[in-house]
Amino acid sequence: MTKLMAIILIAGSALSGTPATHTDAEIYTWIKNKMGITENYEMPTVKHVSQSVLAVMIREKAEGHRKEWEEQNTQREVNEYIDMLAREVRGLFLAANMKVLYVTSDTNTGIYREAIVAHELAHYLQQKSGGDVYGPARWFREMQAEQYQAEYIEEFCPKCNGMGEIVKEEANQ
Ligand SMILES: [Zn+2]
Repeated sequence: MTKLMAIILIAGSALSGTPATHTDAEIYTWIKNKMGITENYEMPTVKHVSQSVLAVMIREKAEGHRKEWEEQNTQREVNEYIDMLAREVRGLFLAANMKVLYVTSDTNTGIYREAIVAHELAHYLQQKSGGDVYGPARWFREMQAEQYQAEYIEEFCPKCNGMGEIVKEEANQ
């Protein structure tokens, strides 16, 4: 939830952003190296879609968990959670479809969009190398992907915040 709060705090600020610097294939090489993966898994296609298209897919997937979530939460809480996911989640990896990943094209900065590509590719590689992204350890895998997302921005834009907006005057470049 901290990340969500950070996103809300930053929303509305008009900070200068950074352009995109890498192709999806280059990001795939970067994340494979980060994760120490040497197997030549075929790279999935990264589909760049609008946030509204992505939101429809996120809702569809989330609805599949509704029954499970409503065992421990009220229906209203689950509705709010699904609305939040549709609004805030920027990429989608589906273990049922290993050939395609979805990433929003509606980001303020190119580097943030690239970091999301790295995040979703990390999920693909987690799944490929034997970790069930939607299994019992899913929160660990989510944190791992978020960490790679943050490291991508730190590496390619040391002056940027987590949204890829330039906020630091001094940075070791
Ligand atoms: Zn994730």
